[in-house]
Amino acid sequence: MPGYSRRQVLPLLFTAAAMPSVAAAMPGVDAAAPAAPAARYRGLDIRRAIRRGMQFLQRVADADDNFNEFGNDAVWTFLDLSRTADPDISQRARSIGQEFARRWLRENSSVPRDADASTLDWICGGLYACTQIGVPAPRLKEQLQAAALRFTPKDFLKFDPLTEAVPTDLCERCANCGTRNRRGRLTCIRCGALVKFTSPYDTLTGALVSAYTWERMGVSMGATLADVTQHVPRMKPWRGFENGRNNDFTQTCYAVTHVVYVFDDYFNYRLKPEWLPDEYKFLQDNLTANLANGDADLMGEFLDSLKAFNVTDADPLIRTGIDFLLRLQNDDGSWSEEDESGVFTLFHATSTALNGLSDWNYQGEQVTFPEALRRLYGKEQS
Ligand SMILES: [Zn+2]
Repeated sequence: MPGYSRRQVLPLLFTAAAMPSVAAAMPGVDAAAPAAPAARYRGLDIRRAIRRGMQFLQRVADADDNFNEFGNDAVWTFLDLSRTADPDISQRARSIGQEFARRWLRENSSVPRDADASTLDWICGGLYACTQIGVPAPRLKEQLQAAALRFTPKDFLKFDPLTEAVPTDLCERCANCGTRNRRGRLTCIRCGALVKFTSPYDTLTGALVSAYTWERMGVSMGATLADVTQHVPRMKPWRGFENGRNNDFTQTCYAVTHVVYVFDDYFNYRLKPEWLPDEYKFLQDNLTANLANGDADLMGEFLDSLKAFNVTDADPLIRTGIDFLLRLQNDDGSWSEEDESGVFTLFHATSTALNGLSDWNYQGEQVTFPEALRRLYGKEQS
């Protein structure tokens, strides 16, 4: 959609797809309507969509090949869903998640002797999700702690946040031959093909998730979340969609939503907009770009991130996102389409769409990592 802007798109949406719901969103209109004003916007549709989506997630994760590949993500996904305010969905998600957690721990009962840093990172993510959903594994945690000592933060995060900023010259794996080239190479050392650099926003997102997971797991990998967030100020201001001119837009969105996740503790705590003003504004200003891009995965992340700031479905922006997600659900309960990442793309988009549609049972308003938050806004250790 060329020439897109929030001001231009919203009125169009209001008159086209979402007329009845938008009328209900206007102040004063639903006061006269018989429907209870406290009822959730499209609550029944959402409930049905979440149930169908959960069935898809369970079916896909349960297949052996998929469980081998992303069983840890499956546990984490159902952990997230167990934090919803809907008691039926929460209970069902917790029960599926615990079953997956026990299976994952059976299949990953110890740290392999020759495990590299990315394997340890993968294990840490799985162990964290299992622990949080109520299936702890103290022996695996001890092994992880011992194995992590063999590596440095750079091995886990692809850069050392204690000594350098988030790098812009990390090479993606060669698209032609699969070689992992060293930093800064423009062509593949093996086949000569042009090499693509990883977006620093992707590197930041990965580092945020890793640092968060290790720290919350109580296992040191040599760097903290605050060590990572201290580099965020020089990556800002967050550039928005800019009518499609920002090539890093998608990657920037994930960086912003994951800043929110490490501070809302993945749907556990509400945040004040003034704690993360730049991220709050970015989400408000750029949500409708996901409509233009047909991006259900990011729409889900925008919605749940805004909800952490207490933006509710009384807000037309949230309703627009909900309408969009409900319209895009596939017949099998999933969202998105398979691409080179196979079914995982569907799995991930479905989990974020469900998160976007959910209301959360927040445990209050709190910053989990105050020092990391201070650093995120360029303030030195006090
Ligand atoms: Zn190559």
